[in-house]
Amino acid sequence: MRAEDRLSGLGRESWGVGEAEWGDWRWQLRHSGEAWGRLSACGLGGGGREEAQRRYPAQCTPYYLSLAASASPDDPVLRQVLPDPAELSGDGEEDPFAEEAHCGVPRLVHRYRDRALFLTTGDCAAHCRHCMRKRNWGELPGAPSAEALAAAAGYVRSHPEIREILVSGGDPLTLSDGELERVLSAFAAIPHVETLRVGSRLPAVLPQRLTEGLAAVLGGVGKAVFLACHFNHPRELTEAAAAGVLRLLRAGVPSVCQSVLLRGVNDDPETLRELLTGLLRIRVKPYCLFHGDPIRGTMHFRTGIARGLELMGALRGHVSGLAMPAFAFDLPQGGGKVRLEPGDAPRRAPDGAPVFRSFEGRDIPYR
Ligand SMILES: *Cc1c(COP(=O)(O)O)cnc(C)c1O
Ligand code: SF4
Repeated sequence: MRAEDRLSGLGRESWGVGEAEWGDWRWQLRHSGEAWGRLSACGLGGGGREEAQRRYPAQCTPYYLSLAASASPDDPVLRQVLPDPAELSGDGEEDPFAEEAHCGVPRLVHRYRDRALFLTTGDCAAHCRHCMRKRNWGELPGAPSAEALAAAAGYVRSHPEIREILVSGGDPLTLSDGELERVLSAFAAIPHVETLRVGSRLPAVLPQRLTEGLAAVLGGVGKAVFLACHFNHPRELTEAAAAGVLRLLRAGVPSVCQSVLLRGVNDDPETLRELLTGLLRIRVKPYCLFHGDPIRGTMHFRTGIARGLELMGALRGHVSGLAMPAFAFDLPQGGGKVRLEPGDAPRRAPDGAPVFRSFEGRDIPYR
């Protein structure tokens, strides 16, 4: 099969639907389970990918597949959703941050004093191959039960130091407007909760979800709501994404972006520059650029921290300061996130491992 013919197997026409269905986020979500069949039919199922597919099943919206520019495993869009035998290498840890994960209440993670993270649902529209929670794919389907939500809200209510709730997942925007409103209001109703941060990959893989109805829900809970998007490549910054972001902004909901530095996707200065300036163009403020955590099944995406700092150094001063994210990563031993600036040289442990200081002042080696 010629590469062009394969690629045409991933476009809208190949699904035999009109613009109306294509633009309907529920149609997109319903067909996201067919990604592997599609990719295989386009000749992308070989090369040992079957086994990776069995361990970490593919899932992707038809819309996102249609953003591929070439039907090749190296395409930066496909690389983020196509199973790869490198995921089975066994390197990395299953759950390097487990020990500090919970505060005794299911679904709630309270690691930093003034903010807590709520695992709204395990569902996602796309299974990102670099996902740090990929070992949990398929768990916690659907909306949280009334009891789970009440327990989490009860904990927050009894901790007046918590000012911000990270509404996370999975992807909270896979829930219906009604379910989402129930979750947001449970937290927004607590007087000391000032800010809600909704983390979602959907602006990139399913921007059709950013409807007027959703904008009304997010903008209507009576507290400041921010959308934390997850764009990794300039090709994800489509007209649909720009329109969705603007719809939310008009309802009073600004967007920031947390990107992941991914080898073979965005680890060169030109792609990063296009991504970061492109985000500003669609009115999204780049917030963080994360170095990948050492998580099993994702190690082939990591670039090394030194390379990340080198890339940040190549951009600094050459793009608007507004476009510059913080370069950040998670420390082991529950140390939380660290931010580094280009030119920062870490101290070294006796065995040569770089040592970073956590926000609580602990020195933690990073091996
Ligand atoms: C990353 C993270 C946060 C948010 O950290 P910020 O520095 O505010 O972006 C909060 N809670 C947990 C558990 C996190 O992992
Ligand atoms: S949307 Fe988020 S949680 Fe879901 S697979 Fe992608 S990175 Fe993981």
